[in-house]
Amino acid sequence: MNKPTKRRIETETVHMGNHIDPHTGAVVPPIVMSTTFAREADGSFPSGYVYTRSDNPNRHALEESLANLEGGARALAFSSGQAATNAVFQMLKSGDHVVIANEAYFGTPKLVREIFSHLGIIASYVDMSNLAAVKAAMTTQTKIVWIETPSNPLLTISDIQAISEIAHQYGALVVADNTWASPLVQRPLAHGADIVMHSTTKYISGHTDVLGGALIFARNDDVTARAQMVQTLGGAVPSPFDCWLMMRGIRTLALRVRQQVASAQRVAEFLADHPAIERVNYPGLDSHAGHAIAARQMTNGFGGMLSFHVQGGADTAMAVAARLQLFTRATSLGGIESLIEHRASIEGPTSATPQNLLRVSIGIEHVDDLIDDLRQAIHG
Ligand code: PLP
Repeated sequence: MNKPTKRRIETETVHMGNHIDPHTGAVVPPIVMSTTFAREADGSFPSGYVYTRSDNPNRHALEESLANLEGGARALAFSSGQAATNAVFQMLKSGDHVVIANEAYFGTPKLVREIFSHLGIIASYVDMSNLAAVKAAMTTQTKIVWIETPSNPLLTISDIQAISEIAHQYGALVVADNTWASPLVQRPLAHGADIVMHSTTKYISGHTDVLGGALIFARNDDVTARAQMVQTLGGAVPSPFDCWLMMRGIRTLALRVRQQVASAQRVAEFLADHPAIERVNYPGLDSHAGHAIAARQMTNGFGGMLSFHVQGGADTAMAVAARLQLFTRATSLGGIESLIEHRASIEGPTSATPQNLLRVSIGIEHVDDLIDDLRQAIHG
């Protein structure tokens, strides 16, 4: 018999986690809302499910699919991206040290500062594009190195493989927040990371209508078992309906992201040529400082996110955003609709984000319409 060929991601996303319902023949799996599952007379659980906080058929399908997407051994789904991040730090103990990207999503350092520092976790914040700085921050107590590439919102690129090599010399685990790139564009486990974190609220769900998070593990080992314990005992799990929605999002992930990436590249090139734009942050531009590293670790293009600095200050940036008609002024990213955000004002008074920066999440609208809208908004 011929060996089955490895199926491509576009095919996998359509079929993975999908089973024809044996009772009804339903092509789309049902949503199993039951919180509890019947035992046999001998006390066993014939379906393998006991209680929905520990596992559920919809979550099972989602977790298997996420592991497959990232090339991991196991995935755990959470009720938000922040719940997934929280679970990583909940695995630590007082006195442990963590090294966190100084350009990580602002909620990550805030969580560590506001909650985990009070529980004895010690954190260093480092420019991850500077390998010497990463090395200098490591101690014998370092347990986690938290990276996010491209960074948020400046799209700085860090070298996943080089950072993983440094972290592993100290016995630390590398966690990569891969929300911005999506597994279609970048798979950090293939470059040496140990855990991938996602806000599945974004590209994975893709329709701006469900909140979720996930951790995907390179190995099914004692770290994974501890994280699963945090998931079950902490109880920050997604509902069956949320898992079902995320699975529906995964079905079109490849198509959506392919379009978003192609459009983002075009929009970045348009903005880079515009005289009223001071700077464009997009790793797909040759001029980007991290372009060569990005080209090595980001396959299928450079993602659907970019940011740009308008000439002037916060008022000018806000005025450009206000004139846009197609882009919605809103936080978040990865949905089918294009969004724009004045990032400094959402991050608050302690934000280090430049006041003239606008962050853009490119949707699946026609790219020429997006460029036309930006052109009229920038000209004013
Ligand atoms: N990581 C990144 C890169 C994000 O953009 C976000 C949310 O914006 C999060 C984590 C947190 O995810 P959630 O909002 O699903 O809790």
